[in-house]
Amino acid sequence: MRRPLIAGNWKMHTTYEQALELASAIQARCGMVKYAEVVLVPPFPWIVPLSRHLDGSSILLGAQTCSAFDEGAYTGEVSAKMVAPFCRYVIVGHSERRRLFGETDAVVAAKLRAVLRNGLRPILCVGETFEERESGATRETVERQITVACNDLEREQVARLVIAYEPVWAIGTGRPATPVDAELVASWIRAWFRERFGPEISEGLRILYGGSVTASNVVDFLALADIDGALVGGASLDAREFCSIVEAGVGRAHRLAVGG
Ligand code: PEP
Repeated sequence: MRRPLIAGNWKMHTTYEQALELASAIQARCGMVKYAEVVLVPPFPWIVPLSRHLDGSSILLGAQTCSAFDEGAYTGEVSAKMVAPFCRYVIVGHSERRRLFGETDAVVAAKLRAVLRNGLRPILCVGETFEERESGATRETVERQITVACNDLEREQVARLVIAYEPVWAIGTGRPATPVDAELVASWIRAWFRERFGPEISEGLRILYGGSVTASNVVDFLALADIDGALVGGASLDAREFCSIVEAGVGRAHRLAVGG
């Protein structure tokens, strides 16, 4: 059974005090959740203090990106090696990194390897732009992003990978994909992994949906066969909203456990 995963990407939001307050509120309601994995992905400076703050809870931490290098003369960069003692996950290839910071598929692939090299788990974001969708290039785009990042991985590395399908046009717009479309793309992603790595790996792979997820629409995504969780942006900054999303993830785990 694939354990549902709910990750909250705080992006470049929160002051230090707000970060502690938000984490405390999430911890109070979701700090002992067992059946779903809950991952907070704060800005870099809050990772170390939050790791202490959340000590003893089941809530995990992630980083929003990392350098492709482990150390050296790379001013301003933060490596996977540096965050490894405090995080379990690192997001790579978020569309904001691709679009605003020029990260190519090749750069994303190098970062993914840095995450794996340092014993962490990558959440690889893939997804088409509005123009790609309109021109019927969704499958081609997602498969290209996955091929460049994953084709040469070892099976053991793929076992640590999470894919987030995030259509770019749905991020931060209040216009999520339809569940039917999300399931279709997730099924293409799983088929790609089946073809390349076989059924055991593809059936174990967790695929998240991301893009304007809220407490009220998440249930529709978590009812889908191939969607194992959510990567949440805006709604993760509201503790009540985020905890309701987590509880929907726990609901999915319970349904799967009873074979529903
Ligand atoms: C994201 O940034 O990954 C995201 C999905 O954002 P939002 O939920 O705000 O659309």
